[in-house]
Amino acid sequence: KAPVITVDGPGGSGKGTITQMLARRLGWHLLDSGALYRLTALAAERQGVSLEDEPSLVNVAASLDVAFEPTPPGEPAKVLMAGVDVTADIRTETCGDNASKVAVMQPVRDALLQRQRDFQKPPGLVADGRDMGTVVFPDAPVKIFLTASAEERAQRRYSQLKDAGVDVNIDALLEEIRVRDERDMNRAAAPLKPADDAQVIDSTGLSIEEVLVRVMAAAGQ
Ligand code: C5P
Repeated sequence: KAPVITVDGPGGSGKGTITQMLARRLGWHLLDSGALYRLTALAAERQGVSLEDEPSLVNVAASLDVAFEPTPPGEPAKVLMAGVDVTADIRTETCGDNASKVAVMQPVRDALLQRQRDFQKPPGLVADGRDMGTVVFPDAPVKIFLTASAEERAQRRYSQLKDAGVDVNIDALLEEIRVRDERDMNRAAAPLKPADDAQVIDSTGLSIEEVLVRVMAAAGQ
């Protein structure tokens, strides 16, 4: 089996950027598992399926028609749903919030499990998510848990949105982050927590380059 490096942690901890850089350096595949939960929420919305209708959400998750298209290095993968580019649509705060609501449901998680494991292919996989080290790839030889304070994560998100020309209130962002953390950590299904054998890296106050150095070292690279 191809080797796997799992990188779990809360939203805004820098996981997305770090896992992209890591996968590129190693020349390995990348799994953005959060995108699958976001896609499930988006597909449900577009198909008129309520976020409370668990059986229908399971069908939506199981029948997702998704493709991740490679883009130039450094750019997030282009995400296609039924052939349509939804890269920007799944990145909204609302979609992230809805994703964390469908992610609470164990049957929805089960419906996405094999799809995630199928990403494990030679020469190797970098897996980004909440439960990569605890549930999806429990045998991964390298597990990293990336954190940062809620304030720092709100600040990073604020800067990102500002650069993208979106006007947001930082206090509202911080509140959203707290609500989502709470939901991800306190759910019964695959709660967000470091695997017993994970190496915890706190990125508060560190630049992306500094975090990458620590993550590469933790990965034995
Ligand atoms: O990482 P991202 O913000 O894209 O994830 C969106 C939501 O999907 C998270 O808040 C979490 O509730 C859920 N998720 C999950 N398990 C994963 C990845 C994401 O429950 N492996």
